[in-house]
This record gives sequence, C-alpha cells and structure tokens, in this order.
Amino acid sequence: MKTYLPAKFMVERDPERCIQCQVCVNQCTFDVHRHDPDQEMVRSGEENCVGCHRCAIFCPTRALAIKRNPLDYRENYNWRPEVIEDIIKQAETGGVLLTGMGDDKSQRIYWDHLLLNASQVTNPSIDPLREPMELVTYLGQKPERVEVERHSLSLKTKIAPQVKLEVPVMFSAMSYGAVSLNVHESLARAAAEAGTLWNTGEGGLHPSLYKYGGNTIVQVASGRFGVHSEYLDAARVIEIKIGQGAKPGIGGHLPGEKVSAEVSMTRMIPQWTDALSPAPQHDIYSIEDLAQLVYALKEATDYAKPVSVKIAAVHNSAAIASGMVRAGADIIVLDGLRGATGAAPKVIRDNVGIPIELALASVDSRLMQEGMRNRASIVVSGGIRNSGDLAKAIALGADAVYIGTAALVALGCTLCQQCHTGKCAWGICTTDLALTKRVNPDIGARRLANLLRGWSLELKDILGGMGVNAVESLRGNRLHLRGVGLTDTELEILGVRMAGS
Ligand code: SF4
Ligand code: SF4
Repeated sequence: MKTYLPAKFMVERDPERCIQCQVCVNQCTFDVHRHDPDQEMVRSGEENCVGCHRCAIFCPTRALAIKRNPLDYRENYNWRPEVIEDIIKQAETGGVLLTGMGDDKSQRIYWDHLLLNASQVTNPSIDPLREPMELVTYLGQKPERVEVERHSLSLKTKIAPQVKLEVPVMFSAMSYGAVSLNVHESLARAAAEAGTLWNTGEGGLHPSLYKYGGNTIVQVASGRFGVHSEYLDAARVIEIKIGQGAKPGIGGHLPGEKVSAEVSMTRMIPQWTDALSPAPQHDIYSIEDLAQLVYALKEATDYAKPVSVKIAAVHNSAAIASGMVRAGADIIVLDGLRGATGAAPKVIRDNVGIPIELALASVDSRLMQEGMRNRASIVVSGGIRNSGDLAKAIALGADAVYIGTAALVALGCTLCQQCHTGKCAWGICTTDLALTKRVNPDIGARRLANLLRGWSLELKDILGGMGVNAVESLRGNRLHLRGVGLTDTELEILGVRMAGS
C-alpha cells in the first residue's frame, strides 16, 4: 500500500564537503543513506529519516544537515499535523500506534512555573567553594524518635535499613533487553563512582554486573523476569514495580526479536519469544496483598534491605501512597506522566497519568497530614531534566529523584522516539550486537558520572544561594518555592505561594 505520509525530515548533503566516505551509510540504521556503486556516490532517501542526527554528528566533514520538512498541512488548530499523521498510520496498519520515550505533548511543565528563593541581606548566602555543603541523603524508613543509652551513648532504637546516596539522584529503571548490556554497565559503573544507585528494571541482572550489587536496585515486576534468590541477595534495594508513568495501568512488552541469548538467560525465558509482563501484579489486588509481598521480600533478604514500591502518578496517588506506607514500603516511587519507556502505546503514553509535580506535592502533603512522612522516603521520576528540576523536586518533598531520559541523553540519545523499533542508531535501546557496540561502557560511565558531578556542583550552588548548607534543609521546604503563571487551585495543590507574596 502506498503511504500517504510525507517525509518528516529533509536530508541536505553539501556536495562541496562530502568526501563519499560512506560513514553516514554505515551509521544510519533506518536505511536513509545508501551507496550507489554505478555512480560512485552516496545518496539519501529521506522518507525513512527519524531525525536521530547520528549521521550528521559522525560525518567527518560536517557535510550533512537534517532539517524539518517545511511541507506542511493547511493550518488547523484542531487537526494538527501529528493528529493527521497518526490517522494515516492507523489507516495503513490497522494497529495500535507504538512509540518510545516519554510524553512529548505540551502538557504544563510545573517545574517551569516554580522559582527558587535566594538569600540577600538577612540570611546570608553560603559559598560552596569555601564551606562544606552536604548532599548526602539516606533513603529508608526513619524512626519517630531516637533513644540513646545514657552512659554508653549507643543507639537503643532499632533503625530500619538505610541507603546512603552521595547525591540525591539515581538512575531509573531500564530493563536489559529494552536497553543494551553496555548501557547497564555504564549505569552501574557511574552509580558506583558517584555513590548512588542504578536500577535493573524488570529484566533481571546480567551475571557480569553482580559485582555492582551494592549500587543496584533490583526490580520485582509482574512478569518476575530474572527474579531469584541470588538476584535479591545481590541488591542494595528491592523495588516492587506496580506501574510506570509512560504506561499506567498496562503491562510491558519486549518484542521477541530483542530477546537474544544473553537477554533470555538473564530474564529466564526462551530465546526469541515475546516477554509480556501482565498489566496487574497478580500477587497484589489490595494493600494487604502488597503488605504480604513487601514482607515476603524482606523475609527473603533477612530484613537487611529497604523495599521500594513504584507506581505511576495517577489521580489518587496520595491515597495509594498512604496505603503503600502502611503496607511497609520503605521507599515510595512516583513516576509521572512524562516518564519514558522503551515501548508504549502512544495513546496511553500521551493521555494517561498526571504530572509528577502535582503527584509529589499531594503525596508529601498527605503523608505529613497523616503523620507518616518519616515512615518512607519519596523518590520521583518522569521529567527531571536538570539540577533546577532536582532542587525544586526536593523542595516539594522528594528525598531523591530518578533520572532516565536525562541519563540516556548523556549517552547520546537524541529523543527520536524509535526505541520500540530495536534499531536505535545510538546503540542504546537495542540488543543488536552490531549496534550495542556504539555505547562504550568506559565512555558511557564517564559521561554519566560527569552529569551527576555537574548536577551536584549546581545543587550546591543553589543551596548556598538560599543560605542552607544541606539538602536535608531544603527537603519539603516549600517556603523556598514561589509559583508564577499558576491558578489558585494549582498553587494550593502544590502548596506554594504566588511569587511576590
Ligand atoms: S558521512 Fe558525510 S562525508 Fe561521508 S558520505 Fe556521508 S555525507 Fe559524505
Ligand atoms: S534511545 Fe535511541 S531510539 Fe530511543 S529515543 Fe534515544 S536515540 Fe532514539
């Protein structure tokens, strides 16, 4: 069937610069460039171009430019080009539209409507270059009060297992199979270097990465892929995954063509078969069921590790989070509307869930009101883009954040949203061995560790500017935030005052 879809991008090759080296032919995974042996020329067929920019970046002479195709539809605010193109795709395929990464719609980004405070006269700022600035964060259940033995000064109160983070940023769940082993190794090594944690996602832990167990969060999801006692024992934290922001309420699907020998061994499933995670956790149909699973995992690991529970941010997140804390979760993870994925139905990704900022504020407020805020740490994910978002998330009540998309961008991802195709030109979201080599774990770990270092330095600058010397002093301190361009209702939910007041 002839496609009615126009090319989204134009590929311009400067003939003065092009040396016919064929680098672009080899780098492109979408067959945009090809070598014509008769003419001894490289040619481009732009209809396949997804705008990943791999060719333009690797072209040794900078001969390529990728531009949006200016061919546009007649202006119509209701029937935008993307809406028309989705209909055309479904008319041609008759299927569910799949996509990768996170929601790219113009939903309100509340981080951009929140501003941080800074000291001026009465409360002097602190220079982080000259004075110590504490970013260390401990995740886990905290006691209401601490009792100390009067004479020996030893602790009488039994403290639940705590996890120390040198910086309140962790790498969020990305499963082996959705991303390559080299990506997992890069994340694990960067987490170890930065003193933080990375997360296996729901695809198990490859044997070569067990040595990073002290910096690893292992997931127990509905498919239970790769879950066994050594896997639980190796981890620093165990995370029960109930939902994720990119696809709340639906299961996961790793296509069979990505289930290579190594992926199948790690996930404990047959090679080249689809890995389907059911939509619900079949162990969990109530808070009581969740409590049973939390305690089963704690029992299995001798109560030595915090258990985290991850949900997608949805309308009643605050009530659910309250139940999760009562069920014994040491860490609750909220994944917002803009959270990314390797593959999700586009209609779910773009229309289901709520922004993480609103979910975070409402969960933090609810746990405060119920006097339970100390009983679990809150970790948020789904759209944390930089250290400014990080600082605002902490001020809104988060103990730490997860980053996924930002970490992949650090590895080269250009958000082309083709993760579900398995053809990632950057070698990230693929298990094709020819492509996975494009992420070198030495370089990947360095880039990720650099990102965390940069954010840490910036966070110290932000804290110093506010006149506080510890991230602990910012946590949940919404007086350090002001809102701009928000309605009274939005300000009320966020628990922040209007700028100027
Ligand atoms: S990589 Fe650049 S120089 Fe080499 S063939 Fe492609 S456009 Fe020409
Ligand atoms: S991971 Fe790869 S396929 Fe996915 S958005 Fe990034 S560059 Fe594109």
